[in-house]
Amino acid sequence: GSVFANVAQAPEDPILGVTVAYNKDPSPMKVNLGVGAYRTEEGKPLVLNVVKKAEKMLLNNPSRVKEYLPITGLADFNKLSAKLIFGADSRAIQENRVTTVQCLSGTGSLRVGAEFLARHYNKRAIFIPQPTWGNHPKVFTLAGLSVKTYRYYDPKTRGLNFQGLLEDLNMAPSGAIVLLHACAHNPTGVDPTLDQWEQIRRLMRSKSLLPFFDSAYQGFASGNLDADAQSVRMFVADGGECLMAQSYAKNMGLYGERVGALSIVCESADVAVKVESQLKLVIRPMYSNPPIHGASIVATILKDSSVDKAYVFLCFLREMYREWTIELKAMANRIISMRQQLFNALSARGTPGDWSHIIKQIGMFTFTGLNKEQVSFMTREYHIYMTSDGRISMAGLNTKTIPHLADAIHAAVN
Ligand code: PMP
Repeated sequence: GSVFANVAQAPEDPILGVTVAYNKDPSPMKVNLGVGAYRTEEGKPLVLNVVKKAEKMLLNNPSRVKEYLPITGLADFNKLSAKLIFGADSRAIQENRVTTVQCLSGTGSLRVGAEFLARHYNKRAIFIPQPTWGNHPKVFTLAGLSVKTYRYYDPKTRGLNFQGLLEDLNMAPSGAIVLLHACAHNPTGVDPTLDQWEQIRRLMRSKSLLPFFDSAYQGFASGNLDADAQSVRMFVADGGECLMAQSYAKNMGLYGERVGALSIVCESADVAVKVESQLKLVIRPMYSNPPIHGASIVATILKDSSVDKAYVFLCFLREMYREWTIELKAMANRIISMRQQLFNALSARGTPGDWSHIIKQIGMFTFTGLNKEQVSFMTREYHIYMTSDGRISMAGLNTKTIPHLADAIHAAVN
């Protein structure tokens, strides 16, 4: 017999398992709204034009090699990533207080950050929003942190439970880590207003709570990279410390390239150097060094943006960066238009209930408010696949599938 005969069958991942079930369904009507991956109006995955261009440039470069990157990844990529999220004029960057390491997309960045904290930060507790992305509790627990939650979503208003959030953070032990979604909160689509962010910032700084930002959707929420980074920049502008996990999966469509970055904003340049030295000790035994291709694509596109402004307007050297922002805005706009179309379709059917949250929520997902039974009804009868918490990926919808989804929701709630 096998020495593994006693290994139990593990359940499918609650998010990725939706795609597994979808793939098994032979129905031509089937729609996958489970995983958060962008699809075109034709329902196809999208490779951005600017990414294709960057890849062509990389391929045509005769000095291109396949050597190992350093443990910390591609240096240009790291610098440009920090600029993208913190802003080109960030004082923390100018003062060399930021250390950035290339990691395996958003997940890898969160994990490396968490492993670092477990070794070098004297507080174990990390407070994550309730609810949050399903992988968060596992990533942090396995890194050795102790996961607690703070109230975030109010099912009654389908909006932010701001009072609950403030109360819970106020009760958190001084110095605790707090996971914050930089924008486009997953799964709820509910973000604090800038005014609320400012109150959260003040409370957290007054209690010395350590912010750990997860930025998986910069540019995807509003279509504007700077607007989507405002929450983060408020925290960095006050001179305090924080961690930042960045992903290029969604905003550059580089899902499978696994390209992201972990930045740690420190109090001084001196601390940042030491922190980076320890990040290398975290990374080396895990995977040695990160992959080269995705980071080279990102660096090629972002590099264009760092050309001296005076030249930019004269020589149009900013072309690739500009092209990226246009393609990014087009993705964000298509998602926003899907919200409106779904809302209109439900209104036209007279579907019972208030569905205005569909157009109010932000980013890739709508947290519909549909319950487990309604979700499984929609899968069984309409071949619509989504996570059991009622989250649908708006990016997976198109003009053709909206009427089918609206019919399904209508039938589910009636
Ligand atoms: N954080 C959040 C909130 C996410 O939604 C995702 C993607 N689903 C990630 C992190 C990480 O994704 P990836 O590792 O593919 O960058």
